[in-house]
Amino acid sequence: MEYLFEAVKENVYVLAIWDSSWNSYNNCYFIVQEDGITLIDSSKEAHSEYLVQSLKQLGKSPEDVKFVLATHGHEDHVQGASILKNAKKYIHHQERSLIEYPEPDQFHFDLSNRGVVDNFEYLWVGHHTPGSLAFYHRPSKVLFTGDFLCFFGDPLSKDGLVSVGNDLRHEWLEFLRNGGVAKDDLNDFLNGLKAMNGFNVDVMCTGHGGVLVGDIESFVSELLNVGTKLQEIQVEN
Ligand SMILES: [Zn+2]
Ligand SMILES: [Zn+2]
Repeated sequence: MEYLFEAVKENVYVLAIWDSSWNSYNNCYFIVQEDGITLIDSSKEAHSEYLVQSLKQLGKSPEDVKFVLATHGHEDHVQGASILKNAKKYIHHQERSLIEYPEPDQFHFDLSNRGVVDNFEYLWVGHHTPGSLAFYHRPSKVLFTGDFLCFFGDPLSKDGLVSVGNDLRHEWLEFLRNGGVAKDDLNDFLNGLKAMNGFNVDVMCTGHGGVLVGDIESFVSELLNVGTKLQEIQVEN
């Protein structure tokens, strides 16, 4: 099995684990703070050895992780949390029924639709799962989108894991243009995008594959343009 561990920005790191059973990269993120490490998502239980190896590269161990913030309750985002015994683990309250492992009671379910947890602002994005959240780390201007917007099953950008990723942006726009977001979900998706553009984002970290650096606002605006046009066509029909 293959994994990549790279710096995204100062004190922010990505772990992208190649999951051959899903033919996708599954991502987690480490934010190094004065009082310990915060993890955004924690991958599958079977991949938790990669969490340990990544922490070791930072000179840390699983005991040093103080917070785990889960974007949603799918297995590839919550299971690894089981090895992080000292961490407070947070997820939106509507995700409880999705969690099979670890015991849902390991998580705090008090996140609602908008607020602050640890040093992160969070926002309910209402697409992918009922309680999907995006997290924004203001000091680094990094946005974590989970699977609301991700590159599941896609190869990395030709420019590398952490890059501008114009090829990936182009493909996502084509995907949307060709009906990749179901009609019934489009309104929620567009509302989530609008809310995200309220943050001043330098880097977009997604749940799977490429990490996009720079000019995120114009990428999100392009997605909004394409999505809004699709909606207009739907109304006309
Ligand atoms: Zn998911
Ligand atoms: Zn996922």
